[in-house]
Amino acid sequence: MERKEFIHSLALLSITAPNMTISELNKISGSFDSTKPMPILFVGHGSPMNAIEENEFVKGWRQMGQYVPKPTAVLCISAHWETKGTFVTAMEKPATIHDFGGFPQALYEVQYPAAGSPAIAQKTKETVHSASIELDQKWGLDHGCWSVVRHLYPKADVPVLQMSLDYNKPAQFHYDLGRELNSLREKGVLIVGSGNIVHNLSIIDWRNPDSGYDWAEIANAKIKKLVLEGDYKSLINYHNLGKEMELSVPSPEHYLPLLYILALKKEKEQIAIFNDKTVMGSISMSSFKIE
Ligand code: ZN
Repeated sequence: MERKEFIHSLALLSITAPNMTISELNKISGSFDSTKPMPILFVGHGSPMNAIEENEFVKGWRQMGQYVPKPTAVLCISAHWETKGTFVTAMEKPATIHDFGGFPQALYEVQYPAAGSPAIAQKTKETVHSASIELDQKWGLDHGCWSVVRHLYPKADVPVLQMSLDYNKPAQFHYDLGRELNSLREKGVLIVGSGNIVHNLSIIDWRNPDSGYDWAEIANAKIKKLVLEGDYKSLINYHNLGKEMELSVPSPEHYLPLLYILALKKEKEQIAIFNDKTVMGSISMSSFKIE
């Protein structure tokens, strides 16, 4: 319904339902609000220590949390939840999962007490038709999600859900599934893909915190260029992008969340790059905001 038609119907209502209170009318008005679609984010999450450290990446996330309109919920597609089939967390209170080893005790003590949203989980299930989305009661929030989202919303006052990555499916499946999440943007849901576009832990260089290997820089630049050019076909077929990409994406889970976010970009939307840096040799923190 157009705004004008709505105002017209309100005028009719005041004649036909004179006893309605203002708050009842406001309730009706709320259901007609046509909100601008929420922006979408791909974030490079990097080390779990970003959850508790103060650094340039954390600052970037914090700024993004203030910039983006307050969402009705966050739906996070994290590299760290791989399943057979696709699941969405549907519990009222998702647990904070400490899915890593060998870090300081302070990191294990972090709790991120955001609520879940069974209603939005159900909505996510209903909006996807190309795959069957299962409601999950066992997972929670893994560090790919909470290490970032706790900086976006430090008060934990926005419900947070996660959607898993089906490890049996090719890149095209993930891109196609991402497209189907579009209606959630209109409902005020902030969709966040959390991974790293260059991510090779087997050759990480701890002595080199502030830069990447040459091949990592090349791959990072190549991916950013293809993203900005809108060449998603090449990004879906990333296996054909050369030896630098082979080293950057030795396994797909940190790369795939990017495809969900690109699939959601509307034609006239703009892409901004933030936290644009390679670190520890083989990790890229480069991130995208699309709106
Ligand atoms: Zn990770």
